[in-house]
Amino acid sequence: MKPRGYRGRFAPSPSGPLHAGSLVAALGSYLDAKAQQGLWFVRIEDIDPPREVPGAADTILGQLDAHGLHWDGDVSWQSQHSARYQDIIAQLQNAGLVYACHCTRAEIKQRGDHYDGFCRNRQQQVMQSSRRYALRFRNTQPITELHDRFHGSVPLALSMAKEDFILRRRDQLWAYQLAVVTDDRDAEISHIVRGEDLLVASGWQMTLWQQLNTLSADPVALPNLAHLPLVRDEQGQKLSKQNHAPALNNHQVIPNLVSACHYLGLHAIQEGDYNNTDTLLRAATEQWQQIHCK
Ligand code: GLU
Repeated sequence: MKPRGYRGRFAPSPSGPLHAGSLVAALGSYLDAKAQQGLWFVRIEDIDPPREVPGAADTILGQLDAHGLHWDGDVSWQSQHSARYQDIIAQLQNAGLVYACHCTRAEIKQRGDHYDGFCRNRQQQVMQSSRRYALRFRNTQPITELHDRFHGSVPLALSMAKEDFILRRRDQLWAYQLAVVTDDRDAEISHIVRGEDLLVASGWQMTLWQQLNTLSADPVALPNLAHLPLVRDEQGQKLSKQNHAPALNNHQVIPNLVSACHYLGLHAIQEGDYNNTDTLLRAATEQWQQIHCK
């Protein structure tokens, strides 16, 4: 496999503006890239129109910019990658790794906690029915343990890891796992730094990544993974757009960055010491390097 330099990314969904929790994910991935003289890309994950908020992508890019988090190259937009996702589905179909499933969420829940492969061997019935169907990945070689730079070895529950996860949804939209793996491989992303809530998804994504490598003449090495602690509110709930976490205020960039740094364990970064984002981010990069890149 080709050697590659550090290529990291931040991949927000435009379902609302960035909040304190998403700033931690953006900053963590940015500092890790800068501390290793790497490139840091931004990808807007705009493949779920029902969940999108008009104008949110521009707001997010404006917030990153205001906080001094300047990305390399052009912003990548998942909505422009449909042909590529289709191409990857076709490769998996040719290898017999895709099947149609018309189970609804309620039906799956009635049968258990995880999708049980119900449609795997019922393809004729599924295709003859007029019900809408999703495309699922025939997950025969699940990855059940991740190596995470911050957490070491992370075992994943087999019942989850081996689920035949969705590649294209019943509403015909591309599923998150397919889009992320296609884009991360195409961009030759070498390091993924993101929130801990995505650990299970990381397992599925590495499984899919590895499977695509076996089908490819030009495999891409699996990325180095690091999952960051989630920012929680006073009730212990993860800050999220769904929970209406307040948007980052672009007029308070130094306090915002200082709290995100503290959250990431960079306690030497103190508010009174900086009057612009560049000097703060340089100091934070040095600290990150000392703590995480020895
Ligand atoms: N788009 C996802 C989110 O905003 C993150 C994807 C990723 O980091 O892979 O939660």
